[in-house]
Amino acid sequence: MRYTKVSRSGVVTSPPLSQLSYGALIQGRVQMIEGKLQYHIRGLLTNSPCIDSANIASKALTIAIRYALVRRQFSAAPSAPETKLMDYVIHQHRLLPLLAQTFAFYFTGKEVRKLYTNLMNKLNTYKPDENKADLAAIVEVLKETHSTSAGLKAFTTWGCLHTIEQCRQTLGGHGYSKYSGLSVMYNDFAVQCTWEGDNTILMLQLGRYLISSYREALEGKTHPAGLAYMNNRNPVYACKAMNREDFADPDLIQQAYDIVSLATVKDAATEHKTALKNGKREDQAMEVCCKL
Ligand SMILES: Cc1cc2nc3c(=O)[nH]c(=O)nc-3n(C[C@H](O)[C@H](O)[C@H](O)COP(=O)(O)OP(=O)(O)OC[C@H]3O[C@@H](n4cnc5c(N)ncnc54)[C@H](O)[C@@H]3O)c2cc1C
Repeated sequence: MRYTKVSRSGVVTSPPLSQLSYGALIQGRVQMIEGKLQYHIRGLLTNSPCIDSANIASKALTIAIRYALVRRQFSAAPSAPETKLMDYVIHQHRLLPLLAQTFAFYFTGKEVRKLYTNLMNKLNTYKPDENKADLAAIVEVLKETHSTSAGLKAFTTWGCLHTIEQCRQTLGGHGYSKYSGLSVMYNDFAVQCTWEGDNTILMLQLGRYLISSYREALEGKTHPAGLAYMNNRNPVYACKAMNREDFADPDLIQQAYDIVSLATVKDAATEHKTALKNGKREDQAMEVCCKL
């Protein structure tokens, strides 16, 4: 009843913009990205699957890393003690990038939570019948929060499912056993890629938002922080990093991501435009340029 009114005689009045009703629906996706201890504990206490990607990935990695620190397999020499799994470089390469990614999920979740809180504050103080001028600004925040949370829900739940499976394999035969906890965890978590929106569909929604935002940027619109890489009128497509050490500089990492993001969106937008020019419908043009 806040945005869509039903009168006593049953007449339905739709909100000025249908997107206004979506705000509350974003919460589930935000929660699926982040890691919050209380959700983790609640999940354990109620025996229901925990739903947060950062949480569940960290749980899987804790099991796999602890196992790798005690399990020994094969000796380098006949009289030498057997080698701990974690001392094999290839084992480190399997687990440690996933651990780094899990920290990134955790902090990403915090940022998306801020976006969501900001949106809900705006929606809660907005009075549909009074400040109509604020509507366009709120819808902009809504679109950004919806698209960001949709894309990141898909990215992190796919990432977490992959992490659980990699962890399972690093335990060898024990990973398949129910005692490891990982086989059950995989089954419980798999639904995250489907509910609250199928991941592929959410990625397509993000793709549409990025392409239309790129088009708007070319027309002179200035985008908020999440899309700031589109605001540069004279973009540079060459990253300044010249060697590995340069990537210890967070500013250069940010710049590298900006360049990759802009180049990727630009390529997709160009393909989309060409498809439209060649007579494809909007939905067909999207299919041509949105590749997972
Ligand atoms: C355990 C569980 C609990 C759920 N709980 C709830 C709930 O409480 N409330 C609620 O409202 N919903 C709930 N859902 C529903 C859930 O949100 C939907 O199942 C989900 O959004 C996917 O929709 P669908 O099943 O209709 O799949 P479909 O839309 O039929 O998709 C099937 C497949 O086709 C692909 N596909 C579909 N359209 C396209 C397209 N245009 N382009 C390319 N590929 C496409 C999809 O990527 C997917 O792989 C629940 C689902 C499950 C499994």
